[in-house]
Amino acid sequence: NRQVVLERYIEGVPKVTDMAMKIGKKELKAPKGSGAFLVKNLYLSCDPYMRGRMRDFHGSYIPPFVPSQPIEGFGVGKVLDSDNPDFKPGDFISGITGWEEYSLIHNTSQLRKIQPDDAIPLSYHLGLLGMPGFTAYVGFYEICSPKKGEYVFVSAASGAVGQLVGQLAKLHGCYVVGSAGSRQKVDLLKNKLGFDEAFNYKEEADLDAALKRYFPEGIDIYFDNVGGEILDAALLNMRIHGRIAVCGMVSLHSFSDPKGIHNLYCVVPKRIKMQGFLQSDYLDKFPEFLEHVTKNFKEGKIVYIEDMNDGLESGPAAFVGLFSGQNIGKQVICLARD
Ligand code: NDP
Repeated sequence: NRQVVLERYIEGVPKVTDMAMKIGKKELKAPKGSGAFLVKNLYLSCDPYMRGRMRDFHGSYIPPFVPSQPIEGFGVGKVLDSDNPDFKPGDFISGITGWEEYSLIHNTSQLRKIQPDDAIPLSYHLGLLGMPGFTAYVGFYEICSPKKGEYVFVSAASGAVGQLVGQLAKLHGCYVVGSAGSRQKVDLLKNKLGFDEAFNYKEEADLDAALKRYFPEGIDIYFDNVGGEILDAALLNMRIHGRIAVCGMVSLHSFSDPKGIHNLYCVVPKRIKMQGFLQSDYLDKFPEFLEHVTKNFKEGKIVYIEDMNDGLESGPAAFVGLFSGQNIGKQVICLARD
């Protein structure tokens, strides 16, 4: 049972050498009386929040990984053997599993059964129809209080969360601009994902001027995936009664060069509502999210871009790549297709 383990707790930007391949014990059966089931992992997800679990810090909403144990993360797998009546051999599941070929799963609190559907790749349950897609859905509808015709700005716009935020905003009748870190991503935003405009923030010497160019009348909604300098520039360009959904601060995850925020004062005169949120607080909305996004996807009104790397051994580099923008779309690792 090949596994990817965390070598040691880290500081700063994650490196490939912070993780290691290991051969673990392969369970062939779910032990009788254990209530567990054995899963063959097919797809594993690389998500920025996992960086937070690589620190020796217990005060967060989620505990740290255990060094020399397989990394935990969202995955899609197939049940091979089961001592749990709710999960039968042949069932497909999506939820928290391990970075290993086979996982014995005891805790089903963050796991659900999924129905294979010829029209939807199984791996989409890690992105479009999984945690990142749900984050986009609750972040946009619950936190941003969008209205038709409003001006929406999304950062890390071509990523797992951002690409859906932009498309939901377009379906809602908003004007949407995204920022991303390469020309290829900007091209995808404009020509595949339906954003009205997009720009490469790395090519803009003055982010405030860039936002003024794309939002001459200001921003009603900023969906913030990155924090740092882009948030600082967005604050200057918010309209009165604007909303900022603080989804994540990937630019600060590594704490290597944290950039200060200078323009927070704008929230007072502009009466900006700025709210952080965790998708896990809204799980009662998961069924309505699945229905809404599946329907729009099947009708061709939503598309989704994945970045698929093959093989468990590609996991560490794929994960590390999130923090330099190497991924183009939702980063997934494929271990096996069935
Ligand atoms: P992405 O697929 O967007 O991948 C991360 C992207 O972040 C990279 O591709 C890169 O895109 C961008 N990035 C990396 N470093 C920087 C930097 N220094 N400055 C600016 N951009 C950077 O990730 P997700 O869509 O999965 O996650 C997006 C955000 O949402 C993250 O902050 C994540 O933590 C957060 N999140 C929050 C949740 C919640 O419940 N609140 C749940 C899930 C995710 P580019 O090339 O464009 O720079």
